[in-house]
Amino acid sequence: MSEDFLRRMHHAAAAARAAAAAIAAVGDPVRLAADSVMDKGAAGPATVADLAGQVAAIRALRSAEGPRCRIMAEESLDEVDRLGGDALVERVVRALQDAGLALSRDEVRDTLAAGIDAGGADGECWALDPLDGTKGYLRGGQFAIAVGLLRDGVPVAGAVAAPRLAVRSTDAGAGVVFLAAAGQGAWQEELLAASGGARTPVRARPWSRGDAIRLGGSVERAHSASDALEAAASALGPVVPVRVDSQAKYALVARGDADAYVRRSPSPGYRECAWDHVAGALVAREAGCTVTDVHGRPMDFGGGRRLAASEGVLCAAPGLHAALLAALGG
Ligand code: AMP
Ligand code: MG
Repeated sequence: MSEDFLRRMHHAAAAARAAAAAIAAVGDPVRLAADSVMDKGAAGPATVADLAGQVAAIRALRSAEGPRCRIMAEESLDEVDRLGGDALVERVVRALQDAGLALSRDEVRDTLAAGIDAGGADGECWALDPLDGTKGYLRGGQFAIAVGLLRDGVPVAGAVAAPRLAVRSTDAGAGVVFLAAAGQGAWQEELLAASGGARTPVRARPWSRGDAIRLGGSVERAHSASDALEAAASALGPVVPVRVDSQAKYALVARGDADAYVRRSPSPGYRECAWDHVAGALVAREAGCTVTDVHGRPMDFGGGRRLAASEGVLCAAPGLHAALLAALGG
């Protein structure tokens, strides 16, 4: 069993790397043409890079796992047809070509559509966010590629690639991949060292009363009530905000660069998307963190594409979770 999770973790990392390469081939996001971006309303923007990343990751997963593997991915062909149309599909074809993947329009469309699985609590299903933190990507902030495997609704293997972070937090962002397998641990390695690069374990840094709280949260005010969460946490001690886009927040707590990641949507009734959390939560948990929703309940990943039975996230280093939950009034 444990061998299997490690093997699947490497499949996740291969898919994340394939998506990262496709995203890199798109070039500078600041220079994206208008027909390379679609506006999904409340769900935010999606770009040619999100779509090319999804196609590349799904191809890599199918090649490692077999063509029938189940995948619930963020982007949908319906939305592309409704909001982007042929011009956007053509942009995706060209980006993939630049990344070395020669696919026809129909192949691109079919592959995009393969991410439509509904997830749930039975069997195995991959959760894929090909470009988590699209607003950060467009703004020059952090973004991530997240690939996580659910078995009967429980995360068991995953990878989070962060192309604008580095293995050492003091270095410029040459890219890093975080990997995790249930019961086995969490690691990081350089994004561009496809094989042979050093893989080093990551561990969260235990927090003690009296320490400052380096509190991870969203940059985007529409995604999380970061101001209010930071104010509530300050009952425990001085808060140092670590506002970063994407699931990179889980990874920063996992390797000790932050003490916690807290998220609560300001939109009433908003339920988190599975692909925003499966891989990141596993990396953090395997690095020693406690991961629950903001009410201290275990994250329920068995409910499908949305986490209907969970609200927000409270991911904390050893020693901090109970105190932070109390401070947040969870
Ligand atoms: P972050 O970069 O941590 O702010 O989170 C990015 C994610 O926020 C995206 O992948 C979206 O799925 C998610 N998101 C979009 N709208 C909302 C919302 N109203 N509340 C919470 N999360 C959202
Ligand atoms: Mg996302």
